[in-house]
Amino acid sequence: PAAAATRDLTKIYGQGDAEVRALDGVSIDFEQGRFTAVMGPSGSGKSTLMHCAAGLDAPTAGEVRIGDVEIGALKDKDLTELRRDRVGFIFQAFNLIPTLTAHENITLPVAIAGRQPDQEWYDTVIDTVGLRDRLEHKPSELSGGQQQRVACARALVSKPQIIFADEPTGNLDSTSGAEVLGFLRRSVDEFEQTIVMVTHDAVAASYTDRVVFLADGQIVDELLEPTREEVL
Ligand code: ADP
Ligand code: ADP
Repeated sequence: PAAAATRDLTKIYGQGDAEVRALDGVSIDFEQGRFTAVMGPSGSGKSTLMHCAAGLDAPTAGEVRIGDVEIGALKDKDLTELRRDRVGFIFQAFNLIPTLTAHENITLPVAIAGRQPDQEWYDTVIDTVGLRDRLEHKPSELSGGQQQRVACARALVSKPQIIFADEPTGNLDSTSGAEVLGFLRRSVDEFEQTIVMVTHDAVAASYTDRVVFLADGQIVDELLEPTREEVL
């Protein structure tokens, strides 16, 4: 089954002469337990696809489903709740709260949702991401790779239906990038996590199960089990 899906998704910004068709009828399934990379030139619609599929941005036309919920039908409050409970985000700029420790950053979304983190799951995530000895550190005391792994753990700890990652290795050197990608890969293999990752990087794409290529707001190509050479 699909953890999330779009049907004929269209997004138009502006109007008249200034109109931009950022997405033009995109239909895609993000199957449960699959790691998908979205690639394409700058301006091809990658961010817009991610924002619409994650319920952060309203489409002009078409449908988005997260789990079994068609989100266009939801009231704002219910959409906010669904995003909080079922969608995880990882950003290029980490987006950690500087005054909080790694542990506090990781558990904040669960705390905001008014729930207790599941201790066993929390321990599993921390060990998988390799942050056991960094939990009391603040972001400024961590390397970029460690900060992004904190952001990954934060996304994973609430057991979201799907995680959207926007160029998660864009600010990292290749060693730190490989740590983050290795963790994302393991969370797919070991926990059946569903991940959608926007990336420009062929190495990053080679960690995924499928690469979808966008151009001018449309899906123009798809590769399964991509190798680095195929993506380049
Ligand atoms: P990508 O992520 O592939 O670089 P985007 O989804 O950011 O592409 O953008 C797709 C198109 O939509 C581009 O032409 C971009 O300029 C335009 N666009 C994106 N966001 C906005 C916005 N808020 N207002 C107007 N145009 C936008
Ligand atoms: P481990 O020690 O668990 O293998 P890694 O972080 O090295 O941890 O790798 C995690 C997962 O990512 C493994 O499934 C591995 O096969 C895969 N992987 C590692 N390097 C690459 C690569 N360059 N391209 C694609 N997949 C990779």
